[in-house]
Amino acid sequence: MFVVFRCTDCGRFLYQEGGVETRECPCGTRVEVSGAVAVAEAESHREARALVRALQEEEMGKAHFRRYG
Ligand SMILES: [Zn+2]
Repeated sequence: MFVVFRCTDCGRFLYQEGGVETRECPCGTRVEVSGAVAVAEAESHREARALVRALQEEEMGKAHFRRYG
């Protein structure tokens, strides 16, 4: 199982295979998976990656809407 969660620092969506305790975010923060808020679960690496992309796009869409709305 893979868990999708947000970086506790920058809020970026990340995913990590279940059982792994930390994940280093591209922003440089080492996120404790157990301490982060899980937003979704996925069965496979591929599904997790697709979820992260969808969530990120949704977030960017909202930012876009705020900026021009
Ligand atoms: Zn981060």
